[in-house]
Amino acid sequence: MAYEKIWANNPNLNKTELKKLQKDGLKIFEDIPHYAKHGFASIPQEEWDLFKWAGLYLQKPKEAGYFMMRVCVPSGILNNEQLETLAGIARDYGRGLFDITTRQAVQFHWLEIEQIPDIFDRLKRVGLSTAGACGDITRNIVGNPLSGIDPHELVDTTDIVREVYEFFQHNEDFSNLPRKYKMSISANVYNVTNAEIHCLSFTPAKKVIDGVETVGFHVKVGGGLSSAPYLAQTLDIFVKPEQVKDVAIAITTIFRDYGYREKRHRARLKFLVADWGVEKFKEKLLELTGPLPSKGEDVQKGWNAGYLYGVHPQKQPGLNYIGFNVPVGRLNADEVFEIARVAKQYGNGEVRLCNSQNLIIPNVRDEHVDAVLQEKVFERITIRPKTFIGYSVSCTGTQFCNLALVETKERMRRIAEYLDDHLEIDVPVRIHMVGCPNSCGQRQIGDIGLQGIKMKTKDKGMVEAFEIYVGGTLRNGGKFNEKLKGKIDAEQLHEVLLNLLTYFKETKQPGETFLEY
Ligand code: SF4
Repeated sequence: MAYEKIWANNPNLNKTELKKLQKDGLKIFEDIPHYAKHGFASIPQEEWDLFKWAGLYLQKPKEAGYFMMRVCVPSGILNNEQLETLAGIARDYGRGLFDITTRQAVQFHWLEIEQIPDIFDRLKRVGLSTAGACGDITRNIVGNPLSGIDPHELVDTTDIVREVYEFFQHNEDFSNLPRKYKMSISANVYNVTNAEIHCLSFTPAKKVIDGVETVGFHVKVGGGLSSAPYLAQTLDIFVKPEQVKDVAIAITTIFRDYGYREKRHRARLKFLVADWGVEKFKEKLLELTGPLPSKGEDVQKGWNAGYLYGVHPQKQPGLNYIGFNVPVGRLNADEVFEIARVAKQYGNGEVRLCNSQNLIIPNVRDEHVDAVLQEKVFERITIRPKTFIGYSVSCTGTQFCNLALVETKERMRRIAEYLDDHLEIDVPVRIHMVGCPNSCGQRQIGDIGLQGIKMKTKDKGMVEAFEIYVGGTLRNGGKFNEKLKGKIDAEQLHEVLLNLLTYFKETKQPGETFLEY
């Protein structure tokens, strides 16, 4: 068994590791029917953390017994039946809330343990799962939401992502990793998956092999955000599409067997890569995979940050994909049912989720585009959002998250609307809000990043506040945003941002972006 080696090699395992060795996280799936029958009070507190492996976190406050559930959606691609099933779960159990995450997953809230078996049954019937959506395991694989229809992809990655996802899903050889482990696989030349911020990313590349131009991937390792953010580094290898799964298995094996398990905050792959360097990492990888060719030509042309608004021709003549804004990633169940109906009536029923917390309806014939756009549901979920609401990302925040220091989602929506009401600007400004240093809202790559903290004030005591960061990008290799001095009382945040952005508008050149400024 793979984990005996981990035990033998690490005499100083942290408490979480010792607990994980006693019981594999995925085993919680076997216990859930029992707990569902006997109620929340029957779940021992020491088991609470294991629920993450089943995609379940206890909401705030934990004692109330309500769960958040995250469902994996590889590449963000949902067929009509899957979308309707998710809408039904949100309506029947989740008080109507349907959140799209920055990893193309779907989150529900307010679930009770008694409801979980029925939800699992519904998901299973349509080929969806929560396994690995949370916990120290391979998380939902981020992929090109346009795979198979994208005029700007080198190769269709739909099946590659699915094959890798299915290998790791429910695989107890890889369900006890040192910490969370995030992959992306995409052949889109505009870096639609934000390749530099994942533990492992496959990015589009070409190489002449034996005189034949071959399409495939380059491999980046060691990216990640949180309080010690790292940009992933490229290994000097070229991987053919049919080798992606084996290389993903080999890299995950290295993380499982050599990743740090002594201190939780050092347990991500990024620390191992930073300490080893890419040369040593590559050597270890080749020991597992056998020889691989060196790098070829990187064909990435830029970065679209996962924003795909508007009507665009697909690679299939006569068909279009339509990209819609979902304000801060939150829909209600009625809207999801309506979107599913429209997707079925005018497309092939599919809907695709973006890591920018937005969605796409693909496969709409030219002659049906206008009819889609006239549907009432697309008055709020629009293809032409105003500047600030269209480029705002937010994590969950104190409404449901136990780690949050401040409220985020509703606040980000209100602030974006305030900015849109008071300022028109000729370029997008991407604003990312998070409620703690954990970065589920990817604060570090925003043009403006807003990170919640608590602040002591003379007159009001402890208040919610924000640090402001500026200048994040993944263009030209990437750069994380930098902190401005001071903290802002959350009550004043909208005014401070309005002043900052008004100054930007008044002093910039026409068309100049926030990053260039
Ligand atoms: Fe919770 Fe922090 Fe993640 Fe926001 S970034 S959802 S506050 S853990």
